[in-house]
Order: sequence, then C-alpha cells, then structure tokens
Amino acid sequence: MAVEITQACIHCQACKQVCPQHAIKSNGKTTAVIVHRCDECQSSWSAPQCASICPIEEAIVSADGQPLNPKGSLKPDLSVLDRIAARLSAER
Ligand code: SF4
Ligand code: SF4
Repeated sequence: MAVEITQACIHCQACKQVCPQHAIKSNGKTTAVIVHRCDECQSSWSAPQCASICPIEEAIVSADGQPLNPKGSLKPDLSVLDRIAARLSAER
C-alpha cells in the first residue's frame, strides 16, 4: 500500500518536505516513493500529505492507480475574481 509518482512530476520536491514517513526520495531530477515506508498517510492524516501540497495534476496516484489530484482539480476558481470585480465596481 503506497502512492506512486508518475511521469507528470516536475521534481519540485515539495512532497519530500512534507511526507511524515520520509518516504519520498528526490534529487531534483528524479522523484520516487520508498514503498515500504509509505502508509498513504493513514496512520496520522486524513489525506496523503504529498498530494495535498503537490502543484501538478496526476503527478501522484494511489495504490490502485487513481490520480490523487485528477485533471482539472487544481485549477484556480476564477469565479472569485468575478466576485471581487463585482464588489469593486459596486463600491465606485
Ligand atoms: S502518502 Fe503520505 S506517507 Fe506516502 S509518500 Fe505521500 S506523504 Fe509520504
Ligand atoms: S510535489 Fe508533485 S511535482 Fe513536486 S516532486 Fe512531489 S510529486 Fe513531483
């Protein structure tokens, strides 16, 4: 039971910094999960911490191959900008 890092990874090493099990090795050019250390964060977290900080969609998949940040999941919510613009124009 371990997550896996895919070809989409850009080797930013953010996941390495937050992994509570020290289960990610990365040298900035390659990144991989040390399988026997990863418990998918089930011992102490409600969600995999590597995926929570990873900025790239589909870079980390669960043990059954499902992307933890699927395509489209990390896009900014542009409706926030619309609401700010509406508020600013209302204040003028
Ligand atoms: S799921 Fe948790 S334990 Fe596994 S590599 Fe990611 S942060 Fe580390
Ligand atoms: S945070 Fe995501 S993109 Fe960055 S090294 Fe880890 S898996 Fe790769």
